[in-house]
Amino acid sequence: MIAPASRTNAIRAIAGKDFTAVRRSKGVMLPMLIVPFLLLVALPFGVGLAARSAHPPDVGSMLRALPGGLAKPILNLPPRERLITLVDGYLLAPLFLIVPLMLAAVLSAQSQVNELNEAGWKALRAGYVDRAAVIFSEALKLRPDDPVLLLGAGAAASGQGNQAYAMAQLKRALEQKPELTPASRLLGQIAYAEGDVDLALRTYENALKYAPGDPGLSRELEEWRRETKVHSSFDERRYDQFRVLFEGREEKALAKQATDIFHLAFRRICTKLGEFPPDTIVAVLYTEQQFRDITRAPRWSGGAYDGRIRVPVAGAEQHPELFERVLVHELTHAVVANIAPRGIPVWMNEGLAQYFEGADADKARHRMKALGQSIPLQDLEGSFTRLPTGIAVQAAYDESLLAVGVILEKPGFVWTRLLHELEESRSIEATIKSFGWSYADLEAPFAR
Ligand SMILES: [Zn+2]
Repeated sequence: MIAPASRTNAIRAIAGKDFTAVRRSKGVMLPMLIVPFLLLVALPFGVGLAARSAHPPDVGSMLRALPGGLAKPILNLPPRERLITLVDGYLLAPLFLIVPLMLAAVLSAQSQVNELNEAGWKALRAGYVDRAAVIFSEALKLRPDDPVLLLGAGAAASGQGNQAYAMAQLKRALEQKPELTPASRLLGQIAYAEGDVDLALRTYENALKYAPGDPGLSRELEEWRRETKVHSSFDERRYDQFRVLFEGREEKALAKQATDIFHLAFRRICTKLGEFPPDTIVAVLYTEQQFRDITRAPRWSGGAYDGRIRVPVAGAEQHPELFERVLVHELTHAVVANIAPRGIPVWMNEGLAQYFEGADADKARHRMKALGQSIPLQDLEGSFTRLPTGIAVQAAYDESLLAVGVILEKPGFVWTRLLHELEESRSIEATIKSFGWSYADLEAPFAR
């Protein structure tokens, strides 16, 4: 039982929501004005004019066709009044009912859009990008230019790895509502990851006009500018979906080498994982110093992937096989991130990267044996940068390789399914279990 006061409040809230919906949308405003006008003003007026004309339309024959005495009251009238009485007296009343019915239909479509909008964002928050994409596209059919729906569609498409479509939707969202900061942020980040730094910078600069105090935007913009400054003297080499940025003549040959390596390794990695993500992959070749400045990576890391592959090229010419290994390793991270942008445990990511770069599993096994202790995989789901010692870091990489090796032993295993399930899962261990392995199974080659 609802208390009268709160019931009034509820009615007021619903009415308020409906009025806002009516005011906000042309799709509601127009039928609300035009249809009542046609039915309730234009139609009676037209009928009146017709009845007054020299030869009023004769409805007598139609009325006489009606059964029984139904039409008698009208037939008894003079012919000139028959039409007016028929339309204004009998037909108009039901027409009045059409107006609220139609409005209710339009308003419910409107609130259906709101419900879809909420469901879409909920799906996105829970990481169900495919479901979110379907919901937002459904909602956009009902309200094609809604900036928030366009933002949702963009976010979902980006999660699915369809960056071109995501950017198109986000641009449309910003055309409708330039002050929609979340759309600017997402568009900037995707553009940057896709290597379109100009668009990224422009988007953030525009966004800051509407949100001048936003610390996140200005910080990121500053970082991008700093990096662009370093890159302003860089050339670029494009090949397929790869873009390799490099500096100077000496590195030009290395850039060519890099694109060739990417081209071959990409096929190999994607074939094994069972998916060919279409995203652009950007790699930057740095001098050692530039690499540390930009990535702030720990000294033990040979390369880095943070949406772009970053590789220091010092010594690459003397050790081409090492250069190739680093490139393939980071390329694996790029492919994995493009297949499943989140949810992949670090040990799996590093294990796959080492497997594809050609790391020696036997050596890893021996090192683990000599070490005589191990780190539980559970503790290696997050970043390795927090591990206390170099020895622990080495063990973490070795364990990653060996654990992934257990999964790789299963013939015909489809990695892409596991990666996508992990992307949507809440428990890494439970998801891997559903594919047939416990953490103990994966730790078997090294656990003491
Ligand atoms: Zn790695």
